[in-house]
Amino acid sequence: MPLPTHARVVIIGGGISGCSVAYHLAKAGWTDIVLLERKQLTCGTTWHAAGLIGQLRGSLNMTRLAKYSADLYVRLEEETGIATGMRQTGSISVALTEARREELYRSAALARAFDVAVDEISPAQVKAMYPHLNVGDVVGAVHLPLDGQCDPGNIALALAKGARMRGAQVHEGVKVTKVLDDGARVTGVAYEAAGEAGVIACEHVVNCGGMWGRDLAAASGVTLPLHAAEHFYLVTEPIEGLGRLPVLRVPDECAYYKEDAGKMMLGAFEPKAKPWGMAGIPEDFCFDSLPEDFEHFEPILGMAMNRMPLFETAGIHTFFNGPESFTPDDRYYLGPAPELGNYWVAAGYNSVGIVSSGGAGMALAHWMTQGEAPFDLWDVDIRRAQPFQRNRRYLKERVTETLGLLYADHFPYRQVETARGVRRSPLHTHLEARGAVFGEVAGWERANWFANPGQEREYRYAWGPQNWFGNQKAEHLAVRTGVGLFDMTSFGKIRVEGRDACAFLQRVCANDVDLAAGRIVYTQMLNDRGGIESDLTVTRLSESAFLLVVPGATLQRDLAWLRRHVGDAFAVITDVTAGEAVLCLMGPQARDVLARVSPAALDNDTFPYATAQTIELGLGLARAHRVSYVGELGWELYVSTDQAAHVFETLVEAAPEMALCGLHALDSCRIEKGFRHWGHDITDEDHVLEAGLGFAVRTGKGDFIGRDAVLRKREAGQTRRMVQFLLSDPAAMAYHNEPIWRDGRIVGTVSSGNYGHALGASVAMGYVPCAPGEDLLAGAYEIDIAGRRVAARPSLAPLYDPKALRVRM
Ligand SMILES: Cc1cc2nc3c(=O)[nH]c(=O)nc-3n(C[C@H](O)[C@H](O)[C@H](O)COP(=O)(O)OP(=O)(O)OC[C@H]3O[C@@H](n4cnc5c(N)ncnc54)[C@H](O)[C@@H]3O)c2cc1C
Repeated sequence: MPLPTHARVVIIGGGISGCSVAYHLAKAGWTDIVLLERKQLTCGTTWHAAGLIGQLRGSLNMTRLAKYSADLYVRLEEETGIATGMRQTGSISVALTEARREELYRSAALARAFDVAVDEISPAQVKAMYPHLNVGDVVGAVHLPLDGQCDPGNIALALAKGARMRGAQVHEGVKVTKVLDDGARVTGVAYEAAGEAGVIACEHVVNCGGMWGRDLAAASGVTLPLHAAEHFYLVTEPIEGLGRLPVLRVPDECAYYKEDAGKMMLGAFEPKAKPWGMAGIPEDFCFDSLPEDFEHFEPILGMAMNRMPLFETAGIHTFFNGPESFTPDDRYYLGPAPELGNYWVAAGYNSVGIVSSGGAGMALAHWMTQGEAPFDLWDVDIRRAQPFQRNRRYLKERVTETLGLLYADHFPYRQVETARGVRRSPLHTHLEARGAVFGEVAGWERANWFANPGQEREYRYAWGPQNWFGNQKAEHLAVRTGVGLFDMTSFGKIRVEGRDACAFLQRVCANDVDLAAGRIVYTQMLNDRGGIESDLTVTRLSESAFLLVVPGATLQRDLAWLRRHVGDAFAVITDVTAGEAVLCLMGPQARDVLARVSPAALDNDTFPYATAQTIELGLGLARAHRVSYVGELGWELYVSTDQAAHVFETLVEAAPEMALCGLHALDSCRIEKGFRHWGHDITDEDHVLEAGLGFAVRTGKGDFIGRDAVLRKREAGQTRRMVQFLLSDPAAMAYHNEPIWRDGRIVGTVSSGNYGHALGASVAMGYVPCAPGEDLLAGAYEIDIAGRRVAARPSLAPLYDPKALRVRM
């Protein structure tokens, strides 16, 4: 078939990702779909994947997508006539430590909340299902009977055929050399085929270019931070009497095992991986593999021989090393690139692209055809990528770690160790000198907790209270009873300025921002469904200038949302994050401390809650915002970065009793107050009224995005609501994703959890379904902590300071 000159969408890349996107777009009814593959379908990474289809994933929606893939692959052969090799052999994951057992049980509980079939099984049951295995040191295991294995290349070919059957065109031997645009959006692609150059004009492009995708994206100014790394497995000669076996994962030994046609495959997720392709991915790469590195693989094989003695005698048929793309946070990239209109991405699959692509293709097709994602996809949203992450040295260093993290213990609060220190507050060394232990978010180094003098400044991870639990408690209680200082410089700060700035913000914000200069408004930016795209404060700086303060992690997404909606409005949107440091002085003694360093009047009449004023502080100036994310009297001090150290030193000197506090204490304080955390408690799929944020919505102010959805929901009534829970057992730790039971039935999962040190137990939040008008507080609630159900007290009002008196002290 000749190449067309026009298409609605061009999909770049014929690996499983591109084939799945084509299949799902065609299934959604789009026509004029063209998939271009530079060589042959599957010739990149897809052809050599091990083909494990495991449904246990780190979050509810990722589990949902993996389950979708598994279900789709079971049906695909019948639909397309291509043998996919999909067999629901089941899978077993075994734990060799108590911590791993807890992790497996926690993820099993999550999977169950989403109807994934899963059983906790004993070592004896493992042995019965897997007789070759040495289970002497196995302490627990989970079995997923509907997990499976497949032939990855054929799954991709079946998806491509399914797409073709619905009218999509698939062309091999066509390399996209450039994505064309008009400065704002995609207009087409330039390609090379059999030495000839050509152009296909199109409305949308999807970059499914796998490990080639980063550089192709960069040529269009799009950030797609991924880097290839070597990934190893071996396949034995046929082994007599092997029998049919489930897939086996032994994460504590970085290994997975697959039986196929009487042979064993052993694959590795070694702790320190080998980056590959630093000089770019070779032009002629096609069904290639990389040189063997037995020394690198040997430690894994050594453990495998002990775990499964048949490896001592089995002959090795294939020793395979293939490249795969990895990302800085081990999660793939999906969705619209913020830099260029109609440029979409589905790439960077971190060695789980086979199990992920079915769901990812479905979700992306929904996003493209309906204009919005089917549900919250923030885990994998391309808009979480930071521009600096294009740096290739950063990527190379980071992917040495991310490959191994797949099978590492996924402890709460686990921090990455490589490629750190890129973004720092001007107070970094000051905090470090005072005991700060840092964590990383969006490249920012942030003080998570402060070690006591002489205390080890390392994380000791566990599922129970970790080594910094006492530090968090001391910081938390200082904020509740005295005063604490947080460095929140990592806040994203966006200046919106110009003649139409107010009208524009009125259109994108649900609250009324047309207030006097100096007023601060807490608001959400909503989508047409009433879902929460962004959670922010807006400070009116002057008639025509506003400061928007957003979480550091969502800055790029928020900027993209604003730029997408600004249209012809005369409003300039500028990221001013790096211009100001933010020091949050919080606690009942905050006024007293601030008065020691500033002559400004700080009483409630002169400086009321939710207002901002520029004040003298020490020898400099700060813009003090009277707001609080911890629920206490306090000020966020926005200080020009050049004066940040001075202001910090002045405060510390004036208030030796003031506690330096970290992000862990910030989070434990905010959860006691029931303040929502965007990305966990509130996302684009959560309706603002059901999230309990109706108090920040002003439908009377005139039209804004999401207003109709708010009115509709008010009329129809809420079908789920955000509830806060206090666990009855002070030793139980809730973090995220734990199932919520009501009257013996799973009704939801915990969206976020932390320890409420002032309340004396873990606090959890989560949505509970309800009929309009139903009393949600009735019934017996329990939170499932790794299979143990702990009674929990529900509350719709904040558990701590329900009348919000403390911020107005
Ligand atoms: C050893 C190993 C074992 C694995 N095991 C598993 C497993 O058990 N389960 C699992 O889920 N995942 C597994 N994976 C991961 C999985 O293979 C990948 O995540 C998946 O194949 C990625 O698919 P993709 O479509 O993104 O990339 P690719 O398959 O690499 O496809 C990208 C395609 O884009 C084409 N392309 C690039 N640039 C252009 C251009 N400019 N114009 C036209 N075409 C272009 C390339 O030629 C290529 O075919 C494994 C990976 C490895 C390396």
